[in-house]
Amino acid sequence: MTELATAPERAEAPELKRISHWIDGARVPGSSGRTGPVYNPAQGRQTGEVDFASVEEVDRAVAAAKAAFPAWRTLSLSRRTELMFRIRELVHQRREDLARLLTEEHGKVLSDALGEVQRGLEVIEYCCGIPELLKGGFSEQVSTGIDVYSIRQPLGVVAGITPFNFPAMVPMWMWAPALACGNTFVLKPSEKDPSASLLTAELLQEAGVPDGVFNVIQGDRVAVERLLEHPDVEAISFVGSTPIARHIYETGTRNGKRVQALGGAKNHMVVLPDADIGMAADAAVSAAYGSAGERCMAVSVVVAVGDVADPLVEAIRERLPKITVGDGTDPSSEMGPLVTREHRDKVASYLDSAPAQGATVLADGRQTAPEGDGFFLGVSLLDNVTPAMDAYKDEIFGPVLSIVRVNTYDEALQLVNDNPYGNGTAIFTRDGGVARQFQFDVNVGMVGINVPIPVPVAFYSFGGWKDSLFGDRHIYGPEGIEFYTRGKVVTSRWPDPATSRVNLGFPQTR
Ligand code: NAD
Repeated sequence: MTELATAPERAEAPELKRISHWIDGARVPGSSGRTGPVYNPAQGRQTGEVDFASVEEVDRAVAAAKAAFPAWRTLSLSRRTELMFRIRELVHQRREDLARLLTEEHGKVLSDALGEVQRGLEVIEYCCGIPELLKGGFSEQVSTGIDVYSIRQPLGVVAGITPFNFPAMVPMWMWAPALACGNTFVLKPSEKDPSASLLTAELLQEAGVPDGVFNVIQGDRVAVERLLEHPDVEAISFVGSTPIARHIYETGTRNGKRVQALGGAKNHMVVLPDADIGMAADAAVSAAYGSAGERCMAVSVVVAVGDVADPLVEAIRERLPKITVGDGTDPSSEMGPLVTREHRDKVASYLDSAPAQGATVLADGRQTAPEGDGFFLGVSLLDNVTPAMDAYKDEIFGPVLSIVRVNTYDEALQLVNDNPYGNGTAIFTRDGGVARQFQFDVNVGMVGINVPIPVPVAFYSFGGWKDSLFGDRHIYGPEGIEFYTRGKVVTSRWPDPATSRVNLGFPQTR
């Protein structure tokens, strides 16, 4: 009997999603021939291909934004406000779709992704108050028959360049105030998780934002460099790592642009001997490992002061085995994978370099990572870390928490202030006087008192000091409105006008 040879079953490779640009109200497939891979980090496989823009494609987007600007800035404040409310409604309605995209491409767990969208929504809500926010001042009769008033006007075309770790929220920090102020916008999102930018573009269009007001250019440094030198781009907002932030600030300002460039971080949580140890340990664990440590406000160093160190380290350590690491779509997962294999491997490398430099490894996430191809690393804890070690000096941006032991409050303060970064910090204590002194003395932009991740609410502004921010203005909140507008002061004298007419209708704004 002859056996029939059967063809081996071929596993069909799932089709890759193509992620393209959004220019002048439509998806525009890239034509540069350059692309980058997009992964599902929990599965460790490529799921998409994102187009990388050429200089010409960036120019098309800027031209669309420039063409849309005159009509957009002329639209009444009342109409723009109505649109902001509609945008708010649509983003709220589609928050789960946005969150799913974040989990798929970034890896963060779904509840965290929803939290990201929620914090972004709060910035949009703040911008719904734009008529109030753009109010100027008025001084009557500064001289006989002369009044003086101030107004704020939009800049024109502004660009946003954003990082991988908040693919929906950080763009919202930029486009919501920029658009509300009357600017038109070109977004260059991270090439690692670009899909949320396109859903955002569709939602803005559905809300009624005119074509060309919001554009998305996918890509890498080619697109960024073009935005930095483009003569029609008036301002650049950047959020990302410190070396790139510095480059963006230096190049953008050299080219005459207004720039706010937010950089990396190394956030210290100081725990004083009088702190509630259980509460401090809960806070440290939540703030260090949430979103796999890929937050610019994550706590990466706990500074244990005096005899709090031993019980605090023990309290942190005993919480670690209870953390569930897994695919972000699984509701039982509390921490997802890292964004790429390379990043996971770089983060894991500190678990070798730190002990070689004298630290103690209390938890090694390589041993507890879920099996499979996903870019997972379990939670990791290093004790006896010193400022000379790479694990202390580098922004690891992963689930690795370092403990630095010091003897006094003054030593703790000195450590925080000597660090080149100044994004966030926190102090845990029951002593209000010491907490207030810390708030007064510390050279950091965002401070938490018994709050581990002090991200300001939308009606304050977000930003660090030192190497965590280049530029004069923090992002969103009142400083965001200032960044996206420029002031004008008018001095006026009027002859007696005779222009009145009778109209018994109820006064309308539109
Ligand atoms: P990144 O600096 O690598 O990338 C940020 C953006 O810059 C991306 O859009 C990227 O395409 C672009 N870019 C990268 N290299 C470039 C180059 N050589 N020239 C021009 N453009 C370039 O940052 P990331 O890895 O996406 O994000 C993580 C970093 O962002 C961390 O350092 C984190 O602390 C920081 N971050 C800071 C804040 C903050 O508010 N301070 C918030 C979120 C993230």
